[in-house]
Amino acid sequence: MLDRTFTSALATIVPSSALLTEPEDTRPYECDGLTLYREQPGAVVLPENEAQVVAILKLCHAARVPVVARGAGTSLSGGSLPVAAGVVLSLAKLRRIVAIDAAARTAIVEPGVRNLAISEAAAPYGLFYAPDPSSQIACSIGGNVAENAGGVHCLKYGLTVHNVRKVRGVLITGDIVEFGADALDAPGYDLLALFTGSEGLLGVVVEVTVKLLPKPDSARLLLAAFASVDAAAGAVSAVIRAGIVPGGLEMMDRPAITAVEAYVPCGYPTDAEAVLLCELDGIEAEVVEECAHAEAILRASGATSIRTAIEAHERAAVWAGRKAAFPALGRMAPDYYCIDGSIPRGRLPDVLRGIAELSREYALPVANVFHAGDGNLHPIILYDAANAGERERTERLGTAILALCVEAGGSVTGEHGVGVEKLDAMCTQFASPEIERFHRIKHAFDPHGLLNPGKAIPTLHRCAEFGRMHVHRGAVPFPGIERF
Ligand SMILES: Cc1cc2nc3c(=O)[nH]c(=O)nc-3n(C[C@H](O)[C@H](O)[C@H](O)COP(=O)(O)OP(=O)(O)OC[C@H]3O[C@@H](n4cnc5c(N)ncnc54)[C@H](O)[C@@H]3O)c2cc1C
Repeated sequence: MLDRTFTSALATIVPSSALLTEPEDTRPYECDGLTLYREQPGAVVLPENEAQVVAILKLCHAARVPVVARGAGTSLSGGSLPVAAGVVLSLAKLRRIVAIDAAARTAIVEPGVRNLAISEAAAPYGLFYAPDPSSQIACSIGGNVAENAGGVHCLKYGLTVHNVRKVRGVLITGDIVEFGADALDAPGYDLLALFTGSEGLLGVVVEVTVKLLPKPDSARLLLAAFASVDAAAGAVSAVIRAGIVPGGLEMMDRPAITAVEAYVPCGYPTDAEAVLLCELDGIEAEVVEECAHAEAILRASGATSIRTAIEAHERAAVWAGRKAAFPALGRMAPDYYCIDGSIPRGRLPDVLRGIAELSREYALPVANVFHAGDGNLHPIILYDAANAGERERTERLGTAILALCVEAGGSVTGEHGVGVEKLDAMCTQFASPEIERFHRIKHAFDPHGLLNPGKAIPTLHRCAEFGRMHVHRGAVPFPGIERF
């Protein structure tokens, strides 16, 4: 519960329609895309401009009230999970496209602008914004910056961090900061990169200058079927090894194919153990040549059939299945849990084999649909939370899969962020000196720990507790910290 004096002060900053305090009004904000965790916030406030954001943060800072910034609430790691006695600061009403500069190939946008809306606004200039999370019809650019979001086309065009020029943010004190520059480089520490992916812990994004790219002249999409997951995984490395950088290189295994075909039939071969979607884009002559080259490599790697989609509507029809994979899998079990780990691409075959073994060991089905080209895995565990112990078993399986990713030289998150979901997994990946540095950076921006508390960076004690259970290569992490 929040103090009445505090909520009355909030009411002087925004109109009454933009301040929600009744439980039935704040209920829709109790979770994000990771519905496993829920918390009812003390208040939700929806500012309409930067001045209101500044005033809200100043007030929260003075009253020492925690604040969780929220874009569209599509986070899959619990990043925008509220704090009970705190404020949810929704940026949904800041959704102006401030300017598009076709000559500089940039767009200046407010944080609540949807990812896809940027490309739609840039389309008349022959430009587009490259990072394209599968949630792009809904997720906001502010959330993308906070999570350093990725997507199908990030293999070729880079993640959010590679496609943002400048970020304007408000610190918890109400101070305004700008990181990055309109020019290609900026002096000083690269705080733009630090801010990108900081999960709302360092400041609130109020404006973003993104890079726009020319829309490729032409594109072709290959849909290749394989008789084994191993063969498909091997083909991914073979394509990249040949010097081809596809616009997108995605993989789906049999459970994912079956789910998609039952939901949005788009002609995926249901007898295949795995399919690869390999899109080549660029100038027409280059695409034709690369497409033939990629097709030959896929066949040599064991593809049993290959379909080519050339026209835009044909490609969209094939992509439709991949883009609908999550909701399609949502129909296969009462609950699903999407893991997000990344590994070096060359380790795909053995890590996928390891995931299949873990799936058998924990007796829980796992479907795979993921950005294969950049080694970003999304194993999806299908379960039923109504069955006693199944949710806990699912969480343990998720942790085991992420530990496998780290062992393979990868990371516990590819693009969905740490949030609350991967706090323990962070203890697998990092030792105390690194975690301590993360805390110091947080402290430099937000000494009272008011912005998105309890997310992204585990406490050293939490790691010590987790380390009691987790022995990695024979060593207990944080041996110096007392176990309770
Ligand atoms: C079906 C589905 C598919 C998805 N596919 C992908 C994918 O392909 N790639 C990918 O990367 N992600 C994917 N996601 C995850 C999610 O869409 C991304 O993490 C996205 O960037 C979150 O944006 P959002 O606006 O919904 O942010 P929210 O969920 O509202 O917030 C996410 C985090 O950002 C912080 N935040 C939000 N706005 C601001 C702001 N203005 N300033 C500071 N901090 C802020 C929040 O505090 C929170 O920590 C998917 C999610 C779903 C549901």
